[in-house]
Amino acid sequence: MGSLLDGLTDARPQPRIATSVIVRSLLVMFVTRLGSLNAAEQTRSSSVWRRFLKDALPSADTLGRVASQMEPDTVRKALLDLYTDLKRNKALPPPSHGLMPLVLDGHEMHSTEHRHCPACLQRTISTAHGEHTQYYHRHVVAMLLSRDFPILLDAEPQRSGEDEIATALRLLERLLKTIREPSTWSSATPCIPTRASTTSCSIMAKTSSPF
Ligand SMILES: [Zn+2]
Repeated sequence: MGSLLDGLTDARPQPRIATSVIVRSLLVMFVTRLGSLNAAEQTRSSSVWRRFLKDALPSADTLGRVASQMEPDTVRKALLDLYTDLKRNKALPPPSHGLMPLVLDGHEMHSTEHRHCPACLQRTISTAHGEHTQYYHRHVVAMLLSRDFPILLDAEPQRSGEDEIATALRLLERLLKTIREPSTWSSATPCIPTRASTTSCSIMAKTSSPF
């Protein structure tokens, strides 16, 4: 895991703070459910950060700025490298029925009425003070469920004007191309995303397949 994190890069030409420090900081923030970059910054004086990061916790502004300059493909490669290592070391045993489910699920990351970016989705919400435009981001994630723990394989942002199913299909197409041949998937237990009311869906793969 440590070597995978150390391999991540971002677009800064001469980074003063290593990308791995940024990624480790964000990892701790999510695992400990600190909730926001500013909430993490409030804990900068804690010795835990220096022990884990071997460096001081960067400011909230730095964490956000550097994270926005990371190429998603480098993160995807790290996730797939992790998966490959676990698979090679036989650390991803299937459940007792022998099939490994791949779950595609939509998650809304955050929402706000105060600021937005070009990639934001938006909706109109009604409040006691009238109607407001709310901006939000939603991703579909691909999670492989082994017997002992789930592993994140990939994620894809939902684009403006499309629903989660379209996002899920784009994600699935890329994932199958990246990992192995689609023909290795079991056709006996299909659950390909359809135009249904929910995007949460699972696909079962034969244990002899890449999954
Ligand atoms: Zn946005």
